[in-house]
Amino acid sequence: MYPFHYLRPTSVPEAQEQILLDSEAKFIAGGMTLLPAMKHRLANPSHLIDIGNLPELDSIEKRDIYLVVGAGTKHKTVASNPLVKSNIAGLAELAILIGDPQVRARGTLGGSLANNDPSADYPAAALALNANIVTDQRTIAVKDFFQGLYTTCLNEGELMKEVQFQIPLQSTYVKLKQAASGYALVGVFIAQYGPNEFNVAVTGVGDGVFRWTDAENALNKKQTIPALKHDQLIEDIHASGKYRAHMTRVLLEKALTQLTQ
Ligand SMILES: Cc1cc2nc3c(=O)[nH]c(=O)nc-3n(C[C@H](O)[C@H](O)[C@H](O)COP(=O)(O)OP(=O)(O)OC[C@H]3O[C@@H](n4cnc5c(N)ncnc54)[C@H](O)[C@@H]3O)c2cc1C
Repeated sequence: MYPFHYLRPTSVPEAQEQILLDSEAKFIAGGMTLLPAMKHRLANPSHLIDIGNLPELDSIEKRDIYLVVGAGTKHKTVASNPLVKSNIAGLAELAILIGDPQVRARGTLGGSLANNDPSADYPAAALALNANIVTDQRTIAVKDFFQGLYTTCLNEGELMKEVQFQIPLQSTYVKLKQAASGYALVGVFIAQYGPNEFNVAVTGVGDGVFRWTDAENALNKKQTIPALKHDQLIEDIHASGKYRAHMTRVLLEKALTQLTQ
């Protein structure tokens, strides 16, 4: 690991000041992704601004048509929160499937979305739930947020504050875990907003999270779910692209059985 300065602000304004200290300064939340990257010398921040325990970023509330979750909310909180369970069951189901108890105790919603790992779980929920990502500079519609492998539209030093998830009629998340890491080999999030209005988002399968529009159209028209066609399927030692595509349809069918009919 390269040497760095560690700073622990006690408020969002203080964090915003500290991130300006150096162009190589970085926020750290749970550290579940950033610290391993630093240990392997893949990241070399000059300053770590620790936003992992800021109360302003740790909240869950219902606001109009949205469930609003602070960017610093830990996975274990999302998994067990009654408001999440009663309004967006799929989000709680997803959070309990992330990693292991240690990862869920430290990892945060904002860290997961900012990292945009192609096999991470939260990006699927954000996409299926028509989320808005609110930063200290702007509100970003989720369709504009994810920009390919490990890339988002966040600017350097831009602080994610909260995520507004549009509350669906019902939702669920089904995941085939990669045995060693727990990340999604395939993850399918389904959200229903009306009798013929389904959103289906898929993670772990392509070069980034995506909406499976062919399946959405089939569900909306009450037709058979088609085979998944995708240009850039992940192929690795854990599974072929063909297997991932096949399992995406299997998992969507399983997800449908979990929705209340
Ligand atoms: C063993 C292990 C298993 C895991 N399994 C899974 C899994 O099954 N599914 C899954 O989805 N993930 C998994 N993860 C990743 C985990 O969910 C992390 O929580 C997540 O990837 C990063 O969140 P973090 O809070 O730790 O972010 P950090 O590592 O602290 O930060 C990651 C990046 O996000 C930026 N960032 C953090 N917060 C903000 C913010 N509010 N605004 C702007 N930028 C911000 C940081 O600057 C950094 O660039 C696993 C991790 C480990 C170590």
